[in-house]
Amino acid sequence: MVKLLVVDDENEICEFLKSFFEERTYNVMVANSGEQALDVVKQEKPQVVLLDIKMPGMDGIQTLREIKTKFPKTKVIMVTAIETRDKIEECLRLGADNYITKPLSLEYLENDVREKIESTARSN
Ligand SMILES: [Mg+2]
Repeated sequence: MVKLLVVDDENEICEFLKSFFEERTYNVMVANSGEQALDVVKQEKPQVVLLDIKMPGMDGIQTLREIKTKFPKTKVIMVTAIETRDKIEECLRLGADNYITKPLSLEYLENDVREKIESTARSN
């Protein structure tokens, strides 16, 4: 079963995405902070992480950097409320695999998650 980690400081978003992907038979974990996300990545090794950029404390950019340093095979899709070019470019430079802006297009997101999983399967 594909493991997906949803990271967002807004719990409603986590729960919404969790139920959306669980209905599509993913094994979904959630984290409400960057720190928590790193613990989950370390323990559960999800194939894909949906990572909110704006979070108090350790933000999505710092979290991305840590994930890509320690677990480079993990696919990370950044989730951002406002499309700020600089931030997105920084994320892509740090190895983010894609980004999506809120309000979320679930169809786009699901396709992208599936594509990341397929590319992970091909590289293994
Ligand atoms: Mg946020």
